[in-house]
Amino acid sequence: MNHQAKKRYGQNFLRDKNLLKKIVRESDIEDKHVVEVGPGQGALTTFLALSAKDVIAFEIDESLKPILDEIKNEHQNLTILYQDFLETDLSLYDKELHVVANVPYYITTPILFKLLETPNVKTASLMIQKEVCDRLLATPNSKQYNALSIILQYYAQVNKMMDVKRHMFMPVPNVDSAVIRIVKREQPLIEKHKEALFLKLVKEAFRQKRKTLVNNWYEAFNVPKHEIEAFLIKFGYSPNIRAEALTKEDFILLTKEWKND
Ligand code: SAM
Repeated sequence: MNHQAKKRYGQNFLRDKNLLKKIVRESDIEDKHVVEVGPGQGALTTFLALSAKDVIAFEIDESLKPILDEIKNEHQNLTILYQDFLETDLSLYDKELHVVANVPYYITTPILFKLLETPNVKTASLMIQKEVCDRLLATPNSKQYNALSIILQYYAQVNKMMDVKRHMFMPVPNVDSAVIRIVKREQPLIEKHKEALFLKLVKEAFRQKRKTLVNNWYEAFNVPKHEIEAFLIKFGYSPNIRAEALTKEDFILLTKEWKND
């Protein structure tokens, strides 16, 4: 069956069976409940269904149905739902879920946030743009370090599973890719009621990367600058420090001590 790949849905399909098997093997999904975002022509879906207990795949493009129906007929444990993944409520599935996906790159960040915010999603193996992967894994004082790297590393243990060259996809995209492995933390690193403050402190700290932490927080929280300076000094930080110099642990400490929320 012929399908014309749709750019607007980020359709770049995988073919290489060895690569697909490797992704599935390293995703540790045997006998687990798996969710796939964007099965496309079903290349990854087939291997997921062979390994997992069951698979629910969300595909936005209904024109792929004839191709996916053939795969579905071969796997009793596969359900395919034709809907926007971002509109789905995964918490309705009352079980622990493991996500494996070659994600549509135009919605990588909202997918990441959705997975982080859904408690019953326990792990995710995601093919993403290599550049995004490098940003997510960035360490302090590097150019790529940003709020999302800290937030992701707060919620989960994250590592790169493999690099994937662009010619592994059809059509060939103009970026290289990588598969990132996300394992959510069982225990929150901060008390639950302080998590929203942590997220705000991190996001606001990076709002304008060139500005100091004091200036970014002063604008966001409406606290006098000298109070923020004194707060930083009290915990051993320079009053001129920028967000990019702070580790996840620094933000956690400052969240616990912050009194102005
Ligand atoms: N899994 C297939 C593979 O590896 O060959 C296809 C991956 S392709 C990069 C991304 C897939 O996500 C496409 O099939 C696309 O139609 C689908 N998609 C795009 N936006 C989506 C959305 N909001 N919800 C669900 N699927 C979506």
